[in-house]
Amino acid sequence: MKRIAIDMDEVITNAGQRLLDFYNRDFNEEITIRDVHGTTLHTIRPHAKNHIIRYLSEPTFFRDLDVIEDSQEVIRELSEQYEIYIATAAMEFPTSFTEKYEWLREHFPFLSDKNFVFCGDKSIIHADYLIDDRSDNFKGFKGQGILFSAPHNLHEEGYLRVNSWKEVREYFLT
Ligand SMILES: [Mg+2]
Repeated sequence: MKRIAIDMDEVITNAGQRLLDFYNRDFNEEITIRDVHGTTLHTIRPHAKNHIIRYLSEPTFFRDLDVIEDSQEVIRELSEQYEIYIATAAMEFPTSFTEKYEWLREHFPFLSDKNFVFCGDKSIIHADYLIDDRSDNFKGFKGQGILFSAPHNLHEEGYLRVNSWKEVREYFLT
């Protein structure tokens, strides 16, 4: 069985939208996902940087994030033909461990928790594929990197890209 490693934030969790929601709430703004296409919130609002770090450090930030559309259904289908590992870089915000674990148990109960990997540097991951929104994580990765579209990476070129979980299904299952 081939092995697919899958990132969490911006791939199966909608963390970016929640950051915008928190920022808009605190600064009385109405920044939308479209406003951060090809950029990041802290690039267009440099003063937001420390607030973003604070939001991400809140123990509850990760617990009730929305699931990215179709990810549950497609990962369930993939898990019948591939070994699935959820690989999340969690060391920057160690307070997120428990919430991320509970979130995965709630939304992906068909995956064994033996297949959850909380790591620092993802180059340690040994898999045939890595689905991730950050192309940096493909450096040193020996398998095929697959860039999952997120607002911040929309202008990046030179990667195998998927725009949705439907496209992941097409790539692996058709
Ligand atoms: Mg990510």
